[in-house]
Amino acid sequence: MANGPLAARIPKIHLHCHLEGALRGSTFLELAAKHRVPLRYEPKVGDGSSSDGAYAERSRRPSRRAQDRTGDPYRFESFQEFLYLFAAVSRSLREPEDYARLAREFVADALAQGVIYGELFVSPSVWTYFNPRLDVRATMQAIVAELRAARPHATFALLPDLTRNFGAENAMATVRTIATMTDLDIIGISIGGDELRFPARFFADAFAYARANGLRCVAHAGEVDGPASVRDAVELLRAERIGHGIRALHDRALVELLAARRIPFEICPTSNRRTGSALPEHPHPYVDLDRRGCVVTIDCDDPAIFHTTIEREYALVEREAGPAALERYVRNAIGASFAPAHAKREMEARLAAAVAEPPAAGRS
Ligand SMILES: [Zn+2]
Repeated sequence: MANGPLAARIPKIHLHCHLEGALRGSTFLELAAKHRVPLRYEPKVGDGSSSDGAYAERSRRPSRRAQDRTGDPYRFESFQEFLYLFAAVSRSLREPEDYARLAREFVADALAQGVIYGELFVSPSVWTYFNPRLDVRATMQAIVAELRAARPHATFALLPDLTRNFGAENAMATVRTIATMTDLDIIGISIGGDELRFPARFFADAFAYARANGLRCVAHAGEVDGPASVRDAVELLRAERIGHGIRALHDRALVELLAARRIPFEICPTSNRRTGSALPEHPHPYVDLDRRGCVVTIDCDDPAIFHTTIEREYALVEREAGPAALERYVRNAIGASFAPAHAKREMEARLAAAVAEPPAAGRS
């Protein structure tokens, strides 16, 4: 490590980052005050009239401690509370100009860390759940205008994330809407939310529609639910990458299948620790997935909410697995991206140059 920590200088690739989850805490406080929305989403009985499942699970409320409104706005104690917090953040974003600010600040933070490419999740079905009058196209336009300002230093595309909790009908409606927005750097879809109660089979038609319309498909799976959820994401949704996927490890044959098919895992170490998906007393499951020949990539999920950044995730992985592993994971991310071949070659060259960089003056 003569050149100092690789994480500080290696180019960074986002394959699993939710734009809304990157909202700076200070901006969340300002936007919530501006729009007079609470810092916590507290589902009420009868809230969410959609026939196929509302955002909230009414039986489990945020704990009293998590509702403490002083200090850090990004506090939560369970995966369910994290989902509520994500909802509260989404509620504070009311107008296209709020999303423009979110994207502008995201770009500033990304460039400061050496991010060169990103496929970012956005959740239009959550936006309109809380703000039915929001103009989705105008909002996407506002976001994309800010993301394009990052060029030529970095290039970003969007993967709208369907929300399992809203059910199949909503997912199909969302896909139909976003399929008309490929001029706005939308390259595919993802799906997130409660995988325990809203399994992949509900969404096979929405994914088939997306595929038929030229959209790439990825899915969160195996974050909370077991290996069957990961298998279904691959077989029923035909997901080309798996968000998290760490519970696939409970099924040896599935891990072998994912390794053989070279289906990448989007690993978010801090996120998994914070939500309890990965147990603190064990090495993170990515170590095992990598050892078993799976394609591991590293990202930060909802960086602001999890009090992390992509650079910190890279540094964490470098400390745990070493610089050679980090370099391999970044190379994997370039390969796993949906960027065109010439862009991948450029990213490879930037990666090679950063790895070969001589020691900076004064750095030990
Ligand atoms: Zn995610």
